Order: sequence, then structure tokens, then C-alpha cells
Amino acid sequence: MERPIAQLPKAHLHLHFTGSMRHPTLVDLAERRGVQLPQALVSEWPPKLRATDERGWFRFQRLYDIARSVLRTPDDMYRLLLEAAEDDRAAGSGWLEIQVDPSGYAARFDGLTATLELVLDAARAAEAATGVGIGIMVAANRTRHPLDAKALARLAVQYADRGVVSFGLNNDERRGRALDFEGAFRIARRAGLLSAPHGGELQGPRSVRECLDDLSADRIGHGVRAVEDPYLLERIATQETTLEVCPSSNVALGVAERIEHVPLRRLFEAGAPIALGTDDPLLFGPRLAEQYEIARRVFGFTDPELAELARMSIRGSAAPDARKKEMLAGVDAWLAAPPPAGADPAAG
Ligand SMILES: [Zn+2]
Repeated sequence: MERPIAQLPKAHLHLHFTGSMRHPTLVDLAERRGVQLPQALVSEWPPKLRATDERGWFRFQRLYDIARSVLRTPDDMYRLLLEAAEDDRAAGSGWLEIQVDPSGYAARFDGLTATLELVLDAARAAEAATGVGIGIMVAANRTRHPLDAKALARLAVQYADRGVVSFGLNNDERRGRALDFEGAFRIARRAGLLSAPHGGELQGPRSVRECLDDLSADRIGHGVRAVEDPYLLERIATQETTLEVCPSSNVALGVAERIEHVPLRRLFEAGAPIALGTDDPLLFGPRLAEQYEIARRVFGFTDPELAELARMSIRGSAAPDARKKEMLAGVDAWLAAPPPAGADPAAG
């Protein structure tokens, strides 16, 4: 008596650009570009990772950088975004926010501005081809100088009415305090971009508080470790700060020892808005629908609870109001429809 998750309208708010690549696409592009992939990205895929220490994080970053290096031509960027949108559509997503740090690609694509314009053009093409709405999150890198982040924020706001919807902050949370990036986020927020830094993944509640206090976060990338502080959790619920929770990523990177240790149920019960995401399916494996399957199978989310997860992802998104409304109506319709016939009545 379960409704099909792929038909539940939802928004996907935590997906990194290269990290969205299909594994066969990585292998194909690497072959054509003559890039030698390490075994961890070929026969041993998905790689065994553990990012809870700096060496493990470094290895994760290195694999990510190798994968990024296969993206050489504008066609590659178009292909990546089209496939990401197709995968989202297959999972029932009607809105995708994909995050990109243009500095990682700028050397190959004629600088920061040209890179961002290419990404935006590719996003528009993917949107037209699939019907999945796409917003771009420009994300700064915590391990780089705060002035670089400010330059990215200024670039992002120039494209605020042309597809850039939010501003992020990624890479190793243990390096670079949120406060250092306050200026960049102020520039982004003044132009109406959502503030969506990573926090509370590799570090505890303090990192989440800093995202709220110093960066006025509307959403937090991960934020799962907020669960360690009940007052913080209450604040998140009251302020309605959406946590972009990525269960498969948490296990792959060792943030949670096992899938059942991801505090999804506790965050949900505390009233924290949650948007399930995939982070880097290229390196972790599972995609968006599987995150909802995990909520159902591992954490016992009922169909009404899954519908609520989907609603929270939509409300936390930067999608235009009309699209939000349409998707929310789709969630209600999903729930109102009887579960498919032929389901085992005993299970209901
Ligand atoms: Zn992430």
C-alpha cells in the first residue's frame, strides 16, 4: 500500500556540479579526453571514503578534482546538466538547485564570468529539454581567501535575475570560519539570493550556529549535527531554516557510521524543515529517489510523512512561486490518490 516515490513531486536542493555526473559519463569522458582514472573511480566504484579526518577529506577532494578534470568542452557542461536534470525528473523532482564554484572550471572556460554564463546557458537548455526547473547556487570555497568569496558573490548577484538563486559555501568545514565570509554573504543576500552555506556536517552545533548568526543562513547544507543541541534545534524549527539532509552522503563520508545513525527521524520530530538531497551521487552512488526510499525503509516514514518531506523541500527552495504552488498541489494529489492496486492489503 505504498505510493510510488518517483511520482511524488519534490525539490532537490543539495547537489554539486561535478558530483552530479553519471558514473558511465565520467568513464566515457575520461576515455575520450585521455584522463587516467584511479581504480576508485573505475573498478572499485563507488570509492570507499572517510572524510572525518583531514586525510580522508583530502582523498575525497582529490577524487572530485580528477572527475572535474574530464569536463573540457562546453558540450561536456551541457551534457552534465542535461543528465542531472533527466535524473532529477526520473526521481520526481520538479526543481533542482545545483551548486557550482565557477573558479574550479574558470581556467578551461575563459574565466569566471564566461564559466558562469556557460553553466546558466546549459541549465536553461536542460530545463527546456526536461521540464525540471533549474536554479544555480554559486558556492564559494571555505579553504580559499574571503576576498575570492566576495568576488564570487559580486558575480552571482550580476546574474540574480538570470538563473542564479542562492549563494553557498563549501569544502572542509574545519578550515575557514563562517564569520570570515560574512561580507560575501551580505552582498549575496542584499541582492535577494538565498544564503545556503554548508555547516554541521564535519563539525558540531557551533558550526551551524555560526551559519545562522554570521551568514543569516536560510538553509544549511547538511546541518545534521544540530541534533546535538536541543536549543539550536528548536531555533532551527522556529526560524524555519531548511536543513539539506543527505543520508547517503553522511554514510559515505563517515559522518554517520551506519545509515540508521543519520538523525533524520529526530530532526523531523523536532520540527526542523528538511530537504533531502544527494550531495555527490557520482562519488556516493544513490540518487534522489533513493534518499526518500531510505526515509521510508530505514526510518519508517509513512506516505503522509514522505509528502511532508517533499513539501518542505519545495518550500525551502528558491523556485518561483507559481512552480512551488504547482508542485505543492502535486504533493496533495499524490497523497490523495489511493496507493496502487495490487499492493498487499496486509501491509496497509
Ligand atoms: Zn555538499
